[in-house]
Amino acid sequence: MTTDTAPSADDFAGQYVRTLVDHWDDLIDWDRRRESEQGFFVDILAGAGARRVLDVAAGTGYHAVTLAQAGFDVTAVDGSAEMIERTRLNAARHGRTFPIVRSDWRRLRENIDGRYDAIVCLGSSFPHLFRESERRAVLAEFHEALNPGGVLVVDHRNFDAIRRHRYRSSGNYYYCGAGASVSVAHIDDRLCRFRYEFPSGDTHHLEVYPILSAELSNLLVDSGFASVEEFGDFDRDFDEDATDFIIHVARKP
Ligand code: SAM
Repeated sequence: MTTDTAPSADDFAGQYVRTLVDHWDDLIDWDRRRESEQGFFVDILAGAGARRVLDVAAGTGYHAVTLAQAGFDVTAVDGSAEMIERTRLNAARHGRTFPIVRSDWRRLRENIDGRYDAIVCLGSSFPHLFRESERRAVLAEFHEALNPGGVLVVDHRNFDAIRRHRYRSSGNYYYCGAGASVSVAHIDDRLCRFRYEFPSGDTHHLEVYPILSAELSNLLVDSGFASVEEFGDFDRDFDEDATDFIIHVARKP
């Protein structure tokens, strides 16, 4: 368990400096990411009967745009002004119009309109919360922002393996951009520092809390979610040492 001497959630926005945000879509490669997902998130949300979807970690807008294209009524949220600006540009580029809101997750409900059928928090964003008190407070916000029967889909890198020094990035999932590489510069049970290298030679670091899969599942249950399901790289059956990302699908009773 982390203590409250851990970095505060206030620090996340400072990590997304313009030079990293400018590179984010090189890191992702929207087409390859869409191919690798094979409609996983669309199927989960459609299967849950969701219509109003809140993407709380919009980043450059990849999921917000993809879900809007799939017919969901999307609202995009991010706490970083740089990312929000990029979501706006990418939504316009794809001819999509949806509400785009800058908000910190800790004050989410002050900034959104009513409740949603689904919340997605993807791309290993939730580990930006270092303090357990903040993780609990944010999950309570997400829970309150959902309609009864709504789903929360939240993912993270496979820190169970990374903490056992088995970092693996196949490059097949999420961050699929050719040439951009992500490595682990530091790992202990409180901090993971990733190093991002881009073909231009630029390097950046991102620091996150290396949350364990069971830790998040337990927090979801503690926060009032029921039937938490886990997937590894979009599969129900997965090998914990050969999986890049873990996805939790939790339903509000
Ligand atoms: N979901 C996108 C993707 O998969 O490409 C972006 C992922 S990026 C790793 C994490 C995102 O979460 C950033 O855009 C960051 O600004 C946002 N974020 C982190 N902590 C946040 C917080 N407390 N409130 C709002 N947004 C936050």
